[in-house]
Amino acid sequence: MKAIATALMVMSFLWAADLALSQPGTGSRPVGQHDFPHTVRVRLWYLHPSPTLKLVADPGRARVRKCASCAETGFAALTLRAVGSRIQIEADKSSTQDVHVAGTYRVSPGSAPTLKADFPIDIRANEGHLLVTASMPMDEYIAGVLAGETGTFKSDEALKAMAVTARTYAMHFGSRHALDGFDFCDSTHCQNLRISDATPRLRKIVEATASEVLWYDGEPAATYYHANCGGTTEDGRFILGNDEQRAPYLKQHSDTYCVRNGTSQWGSEVSKHELQRALAAEGVNVPGQLRSVTVLQRTPSGRVEFVTVAGSHSIIVPGLTFRSAIGHNIGWDRLKSNWYDVQVQGDKIVFHGRGSGHGVGLCQVGAEVMGEEGRSYREILAFYYPGTRLGVSAQGTQWQQLSSEDVVLFTTHPERDHLLLPLATRLMHEAEENTGLVYISSAKLKVYATVAAFRDATGEPGWVAASTRGNTIRMQPSDVLQDAGTLETTLRHELLHMLIEEHAKPGTALWLREGLVLYLAQPNGSTRTGGNFESISALEKALRSPASEQQMREAYADALARVSKLVAQNGRETLIRWLQEGLPPGQ
Ligand SMILES: [Zn+2]
Ligand SMILES: [Zn+2]
Repeated sequence: MKAIATALMVMSFLWAADLALSQPGTGSRPVGQHDFPHTVRVRLWYLHPSPTLKLVADPGRARVRKCASCAETGFAALTLRAVGSRIQIEADKSSTQDVHVAGTYRVSPGSAPTLKADFPIDIRANEGHLLVTASMPMDEYIAGVLAGETGTFKSDEALKAMAVTARTYAMHFGSRHALDGFDFCDSTHCQNLRISDATPRLRKIVEATASEVLWYDGEPAATYYHANCGGTTEDGRFILGNDEQRAPYLKQHSDTYCVRNGTSQWGSEVSKHELQRALAAEGVNVPGQLRSVTVLQRTPSGRVEFVTVAGSHSIIVPGLTFRSAIGHNIGWDRLKSNWYDVQVQGDKIVFHGRGSGHGVGLCQVGAEVMGEEGRSYREILAFYYPGTRLGVSAQGTQWQQLSSEDVVLFTTHPERDHLLLPLATRLMHEAEENTGLVYISSAKLKVYATVAAFRDATGEPGWVAASTRGNTIRMQPSDVLQDAGTLETTLRHELLHMLIEEHAKPGTALWLREGLVLYLAQPNGSTRTGGNFESISALEKALRSPASEQQMREAYADALARVSKLVAQNGRETLIRWLQEGLPPGQ
């Protein structure tokens, strides 16, 4: 979001920023809990936790602890059963809250194949199911992901490319399930993991790329991948939202490799009734009876961006929502990609399309063809993620990480920037007192080495001091802001934004979010007049993409004036409630 000098009064407005309609949370990883990324905690059987588990030790080589502080003992075989949130240990008829197993052993949930394990697992019970979290080396995890995600790959180079891609993806997204006490689930929500199918060949492939990651701007890149692009990859911004808008390596380009394997065209159909139910299950209610579906708008690559679904009247549905509704509720094989034509035939909706998956980043079929044609994994990665660099440490910039309870600071100059930690902590407490809201996640402060580095990395003009997406605040160097006298005001503004965005009802108007931040950041909540904008929609547009710094300044003043007036009429608490619940009609 934006930063602004406090003294909006005198309009000493030095910086503003682009206004990403950010969705909070790209998943910054918590630090200091375990040695991620060397070890990762994976929830096994995530989608289908079992009520029972059988464990069989390699003779003499496995150990168990029947509570966190219990002594370790050897075992030959164990049967565990979840009863509510307790674990019953069958042999000794005892029950406990948690069981910890280490060494080498086999574990079988009954419904899924037996897993040969040489990593520790922690077991808990919840609502009659056993929740199993494995701690394994990252590279063991990657070998299991290769088994799950690259079933048919023949080329070693393509597999190596996928190993780097999967490792980078894991590091980019960090701990997606941190709140539940693990890093990744074993389903396609994170990456499809099949530890039991990790072959010696896959392990060798992973080892050949040990620790190699694709970097962009000092961070692991967002290495999305998909099955088959159908001949043209998709620009990342169409599926990732604004958080990833500045991932310039995820761009649309033609892929002549995957199409060499023949056509990737497909056809499928769903009944109107089935489709209407699938949409409803996804929260999209078609009025009356579903009559037709037409493509409203396509992305430049040709993929469907919006469809119009007509019932008693028409509604517009984003292509991604449309596809996931069908995928979740009917089957992912029905609409394999977002690249299709649609027709109505009687009571059926008929699709003809090409490709498989979202089309962003690496195309697996294309990568496999490149590998078979003798291209190296480096060439494959450079083709699908142009502009990234392959390396074992952050390329370009050496980032260091400092952290406190509430703040994680990424800096290239710890001696220069370390004071930001206590400052940010104080401002976060101040913001919580000021609003009565509580931060849900810790703040990630990323302080760039120079103004130029900030500009290059964020794409912001030099008059922008900082910008916030989700819980990540990117800032100009602290000494530059200090010299300009705006360090504290900048950070206060951004941290307030983070808090407001965490609690704002999705879809809340920008003027309310921005105006509230400006209002709360003022030392003395005085009311201002504004109102240069003839309509709310003109104001929203100016906030979203201002034509100039001047227009941005006016838009801020207008947003602040509107919020100040509402606070004067209704009180601050009411405004904060409206932020969370939505504005009442007529406001
Ligand atoms: Zn997951
Ligand atoms: Zn392709």
